[in-house]
Amino acid sequence: MLAAVAAAALPLGLLAPGAAAADRGPARLPVALPKTPVMVGFGGAVSSVDRDASQVGIDVLRRGGNAADAAVATAAALGVTEPYSAGIGGGGFLVYYDARAKRVTTVDGRETAPATFTPETFRNPDGTAMSFPTVVSSGLSVGVPGTPALWDRTLRRFGTWSLNAALRPAENLARRGFVVDQTFHDQTAENAKRFAMFPETARVFLPNGAAPAVGSKFVNRDLAGAYRLLRSQGVGVLYRGSLGEAIVDEARDPHTAPGVSVLHGELTTGDLRSYEALVKAPIHSQYKGLDVYGMPVPSSGGIAVAQILNLMTAYEKRTGVSTSSLDQVGYLHRFSEASATAFADRNRYVGDVPGVPVQQLVSPAFARERACLFDPAQAQPRPIPFGEPDGDYAACGQQSLAQTGGHEGMSTTHLTVADRWGNVAAYTLTIEQTGGSGITVPGYGFLLNNELTDFNFVPLTPGVPDPNLPGPGKRPRSSMSPTILLRDGRPYLAVGSPGGATIITTVSQTILGYLDRGLSLKDAIAAARLSSRNGSTEGAEPAIVDGPVGAGLTALGHRLSESSEIGAATAIRSLRFGLFEAAAETSRRGGGSAMVVWPVR
Ligand code: GLU
Repeated sequence: MLAAVAAAALPLGLLAPGAAAADRGPARLPVALPKTPVMVGFGGAVSSVDRDASQVGIDVLRRGGNAADAAVATAAALGVTEPYSAGIGGGGFLVYYDARAKRVTTVDGRETAPATFTPETFRNPDGTAMSFPTVVSSGLSVGVPGTPALWDRTLRRFGTWSLNAALRPAENLARRGFVVDQTFHDQTAENAKRFAMFPETARVFLPNGAAPAVGSKFVNRDLAGAYRLLRSQGVGVLYRGSLGEAIVDEARDPHTAPGVSVLHGELTTGDLRSYEALVKAPIHSQYKGLDVYGMPVPSSGGIAVAQILNLMTAYEKRTGVSTSSLDQVGYLHRFSEASATAFADRNRYVGDVPGVPVQQLVSPAFARERACLFDPAQAQPRPIPFGEPDGDYAACGQQSLAQTGGHEGMSTTHLTVADRWGNVAAYTLTIEQTGGSGITVPGYGFLLNNELTDFNFVPLTPGVPDPNLPGPGKRPRSSMSPTILLRDGRPYLAVGSPGGATIITTVSQTILGYLDRGLSLKDAIAAARLSSRNGSTEGAEPAIVDGPVGAGLTALGHRLSESSEIGAATAIRSLRFGLFEAAAETSRRGGGSAMVVWPVR
């Protein structure tokens, strides 16, 4: 029966099962798969926002690479086709299920602040916060890139391919070029003024002085050269060599157009030399009998997703009404209250500092205490005060000062990979803002991140400790939430999304949509989103704001503000008998690209 199903794939022109294992070299031409938001089949799966990138990952799997190899190759390809969201100049977080070890591990490739940074770095002489846009488009926002180190560490630890092999498809893609789609065009056009401040960026990304036309071919030979350098010389060329010197020179004294001046950076070659991508234990929690694994500090993603899911469980217990039996207003009300509560605690406690009370924050007992103010008939006033994760949970806990969040971006990209051996990678990577700092390293064709603007410039609340102030060698707090769920110790679902702080709400809403709301994985990703982050208003997509659900939420006291698009998730579900379902966005960001090695439908 399974053989018959697999054979159904062959009309699409794919390799027969078994052929792929032998096909390790580049000799066999890749077979192109269509761009679609959902695909089911055998042999492994890749889901990303981009067809070319997903195809690169699938080709790696087809040639015998595993999920780690394919994740790195796909990410490198996204550095070509999504250069404003990902690339050598940025950072990211990977959550990996290693089938042989039967263990989930994470790799932290977050950008790092220079050794000279202090809590005052982003303050004016009078103590006020510097202008955010001014810092974004400057050398001062550039942290030590972590992405190449993450690729190297991931391949060494989990992969079977060399960096040399894994980066080759991306190099080819950069050299051959890709067809400009609406998203790439729009992102370039939206950044055109900023890019024009930096002549090298304008030269690479504004050919003929403007955003390239939809349907034209975009070639980036400089980036191909950078990949070639990394491939042939290893990541040492960035952390201890010529590429690193070029990055440092540009961040410290960016080349600007006549009449334009920007803040200088503080990065040194010493900062690059001391950088490491860190292998860390994941955040672990449980939801509906599943084990949920997410990213630890300096991302707040794993903790906040766990807390939101714990709160949803606590609300069920408190009210005796399951999430699945609620109408849409009741469900989104709960989800909003859970998200706002988790953000209150995240803002107070989570950052790259010692002593984050991680186990308490993700404990069901803390969630039960935090759930005690939940009212099914009324939204709690915003901002919700943070709780006391002190291990002593009774009654309603202590009321503490309220805080709202700092600035959040809306960029980044996420990819999900699963292979036929059962390994799974959930990998979110970024250069922070769409277009990062706007600074391109001369001759190398990639943008530098502005990740250091993820630090709070001044304490969120005067008199309350802020774990996310800048500091020497510190990693800014992130919201990135690559997540893997296991059932009975086996991969069940992997998911992630871009979208700044909305990543946390998109990932948890997708998990809830799939597990509790009776949605297919594709529909859970496509569902209209709400993102409550404990601010005075809550972001929501037009389908919510403009309809009866929005009216219902408003009647409960929620103050909605319309966001045209929230997130762009990708996910993979492991089915029985070695089948996978890959899923991606149907329309956000122009729609994503879900692929499997041998499709059956
Ligand atoms: N810098 C953001 C974070 O780490 C991601 C960028 C974005 O998605 O806008 O949370």
